[in-house]
Amino acid sequence: MVELFRTMIEIIPFSIILTSKIDNKILYINSKTEEFFGCERLDMLSSEATSYYKCPKDRQDLAEDINNGIPVKDREITFKRKDGTYFLGSITMVSAMYIEHEVLLSCINDITDKKMVEEKMKQDKEMIEKMNDDLLVMNRELKNRSRRDSLTNLFNHQHINELLEEEIEQTSKTGNDLCVLMLDIDFFKLVNDNYGHQIGDRVLIEVSNQIIKNVRNSDLVGRYGGEEFIVILPDIKSEDAYKLAERIRLSIQEYDFGVSGLKVTISIGLAQRNTEDGKAIINRADNLLYQAKMKGRNRIENIEESN
Ligand code: GH3
Ligand code: MG
Ligand code: MG
Repeated sequence: MVELFRTMIEIIPFSIILTSKIDNKILYINSKTEEFFGCERLDMLSSEATSYYKCPKDRQDLAEDINNGIPVKDREITFKRKDGTYFLGSITMVSAMYIEHEVLLSCINDITDKKMVEEKMKQDKEMIEKMNDDLLVMNRELKNRSRRDSLTNLFNHQHINELLEEEIEQTSKTGNDLCVLMLDIDFFKLVNDNYGHQIGDRVLIEVSNQIIKNVRNSDLVGRYGGEEFIVILPDIKSEDAYKLAERIRLSIQEYDFGVSGLKVTISIGLAQRNTEDGKAIINRADNLLYQAKMKGRNRIENIEESN
């Protein structure tokens, strides 16, 4: 029976080491121990167990835990081979009796490869998570870009129409007021003709900025066409919408574009929603804008004239 146990211990794929509790000397090792530590059995026997630890204190800590009744099971420890290289081991240690000696019985597995695979998998997982995050950010950025006009960074025609439909749906539920402004730069063709297309583009950007400056955070501003803008004003009384439109009109009339002789004005149609859909309210705002143009430009129209 003893022979059988000895054979079993010799063939198991773990290192088995018996050490004396008194002086830490190695009393017995199996053949896997020779392989793990790169050391002949005869050299290891009677040598100090601590010399096979990268940090001798690790060994003391394990022995101390055993003494204090704390189990030592699958602890990760770096061991030292005979040639001075290291390997990562998982050690389980118990206290036992061996021919009337108090001994420590250690069972060690070399987990260097397993750890490397784990580490690699962790790194791969982190990389994939990072790539995923980057993709989400890019996706958000792309979505944002697809909704905005590239020159002015205002919402583009399609998206502002979608936003208007959403606002109308909301307003239908709450019964809150909703106003829409259609704004068009006056004689803008002349700006291009007299100052060039680049200055024209700059005017479009500065006018956009002035509109943004004069609206509330909850208002939605879009570039509807070439030099035509739309502002959706949720939850606002018609008089307040008029005041807000007037602020925009004046700020543009007074704005200094830094180009000698260049003055720009804007005409505005202001429509308050009754119960109509997006297209209908835009139509009304457009008609009011047309009236503002007809009446001399640089003005706001909000009362429809019946023909
Ligand atoms: P009105 O007061 O009646 O609105 O006259 P207008 O000259 O502003 O209107 P019109 O429709 O005759 O001309 C608009 C001009 O806007 C013509 C077009 O070249 C110019 N335009 C449209 N988009 C852009 C743009 O992105 N950049 C520049 N620089 N000009 C643009
Ligand atoms: Mg115009
Ligand atoms: Mg126009």
